[in-house]
Amino acid sequence: MVEPIGTNVEEGESIEDELRAAGVIRDGHFVLTSGRHSGVYVAKDLITVDPLLVASIGDELGDSILGDDSSLTSVNMIVAPVFGAVVIGSRAALQIVGGGFTCQFVYAEKDPHGGFVLRRGFDKLVKDKRVGIVEDILTTGQSVASVVKEVRRCGGEVVMVVCIWNRGNVQPKDVGGVPILSLVTKQIASWAATECPLCRDKVPVNTDFGHGASS
Ligand SMILES: [Zn+2]
Repeated sequence: MVEPIGTNVEEGESIEDELRAAGVIRDGHFVLTSGRHSGVYVAKDLITVDPLLVASIGDELGDSILGDDSSLTSVNMIVAPVFGAVVIGSRAALQIVGGGFTCQFVYAEKDPHGGFVLRRGFDKLVKDKRVGIVEDILTTGQSVASVVKEVRRCGGEVVMVVCIWNRGNVQPKDVGGVPILSLVTKQIASWAATECPLCRDKVPVNTDFGHGASS
């Protein structure tokens, strides 16, 4: 059994606290890539910078798969889309293996048409597997929907999608009818620039993150 390193997180709230402490979740005034304004920014690329955070989150994701899987455990392969989810997805697979179960890990790569594809022989490995898809932050669910499609094309069965944060309130119907587990379920408010209360209060836009960084 692999013991979790660092803070042992039990609840969604404390995952959020841990992400905040690591600077992944930031409070302020941000312009998102969508152009909308928000008081919260998720710097998800910072997750992989901190090995302890990767371990903690990966273990939580693995535990949520183990805990939710009534057939203990029928998920025998984790698939993650590049890039950010690969490190935590691999760690989640390790946590499942540490629980005494068989679990492999592969990743899906972007194809030139904006979808995801399994290469390097991973397409063959996925065949007949019961797959859990790991993603970092779900915003629209588009990437995960594409991975679901690719896994099915290769003959795998997608059992569940597990993410750190379903910030876009993505529903199963958005990802091919697959159940979604999220460590954090809180919604992040965002507004059109003209309706932003932070603009109204003249709070300066943070130019280090999001669209504000390039403007
Ligand atoms: Zn604003």
